[in-house]
Amino acid sequence: MTHSLRETPTQDDVHPLGGLPYGPEGPPRVLGRLGTRSGPRLIVVAGLHGNEPMGVIGLERALSRVTATSTSLSGQVVGLVGNRKALSVGQRFIDHDLNRAWFPDRIELLRASHDPQSPEDRELLELDRELEPLLQEANGPIYLLDLHTTSGPGPAFSVLEDTLANRSFALNFPVPMVLGFEEEVGGTLSHYLSGRGLIGIGFEAGQHEEPRAADRAEAAVWIALEASGLLPSDHPELAKARRWLENESAELPAIVEVRYRHAIAATDGFRMQPDHRTFQLVTEGQGVASDKSGEVASPMDGLLLMPLYQEQGDDGFFVVRKVLPVWLGFSALVRRYRFERFVHLLPGVRKHPERAGAFIVNRRIARFLTLELFHLLGFRRVGPVGRYVVLTRRSYD
Ligand SMILES: [Zn+2]
Repeated sequence: MTHSLRETPTQDDVHPLGGLPYGPEGPPRVLGRLGTRSGPRLIVVAGLHGNEPMGVIGLERALSRVTATSTSLSGQVVGLVGNRKALSVGQRFIDHDLNRAWFPDRIELLRASHDPQSPEDRELLELDRELEPLLQEANGPIYLLDLHTTSGPGPAFSVLEDTLANRSFALNFPVPMVLGFEEEVGGTLSHYLSGRGLIGIGFEAGQHEEPRAADRAEAAVWIALEASGLLPSDHPELAKARRWLENESAELPAIVEVRYRHAIAATDGFRMQPDHRTFQLVTEGQGVASDKSGEVASPMDGLLLMPLYQEQGDDGFFVVRKVLPVWLGFSALVRRYRFERFVHLLPGVRKHPERAGAFIVNRRIARFLTLELFHLLGFRRVGPVGRYVVLTRRSYD
């Protein structure tokens, strides 16, 4: 059965996409709503960036296949589309980045405004209207899979807030885990939903236009269905999905941490050198890009992540470093025993005078590894790195 893209989506229905490009409205907001309302719930979001259609295609395919194979789900999966308007024109965004706009106080203001002018504000409100009932009516855990692709080439990887629950969800996906990303960029949907108690990851499925990215995104949806408890672990699609991703990530580190973000502004004239890719080795001082002041070099040894090969966006590239898996076990242990009760005793560390559970680190006094110690304990930095750094513990860890 085929549907036109303009049709209003209905309950328990899946709308196969008619291919690219979409009509002027973009793909439907709700790609599918399958399963039963009791039990765990999985929310899959695709296309928060309008130049990333492969996630939408992969999600649609997985949902269609669940329906076509009459697979019964022990919970509900809801597939949502992000920036419909931007998807219809194939741009990352029209007015501003929809995945840098999810600040609770801003959302409150938008809810109260009657006619938001920016296209992304309208998209955000429509998404909020779909999401809020899903969060309110839940009677089990809620999981999130946020599908993306990158402008540069490279294999799939997951991006997550470093909470213990997110980690154990992420470990189901046989791709590298990238930690520390949310300290660098603010206002992401996944950070907002993590603050609302959802467990989940962002999944980067490869390069924007690459057909394999849709396959990887589809594989991620199957694995997320199982990881959230909706699908039995012997479902035939799962072995296939895992094999798909495993084959491509066999040589890659299991866990990496963001150590550097090269932030850019539109006026910088930033240009990545050609032929860089995600997880490529870089050394300190190695030129990787240029801007109006000359060559841009990597400030450290590490692996390159998400080199920018598109006009829009304010992250030039990231450098990540491998994290030893034993670190995860150790940090799980110290979080369980809440060692942060003692951190204010360290030199250069004091409790934040106004924010409960937050600390201020004076980097001139604090020892070299103090910030690392906070990461280990499950804290995230808020605000920029200056002389003083503010750290808070993630909620729901
Ligand atoms: Zn994206």
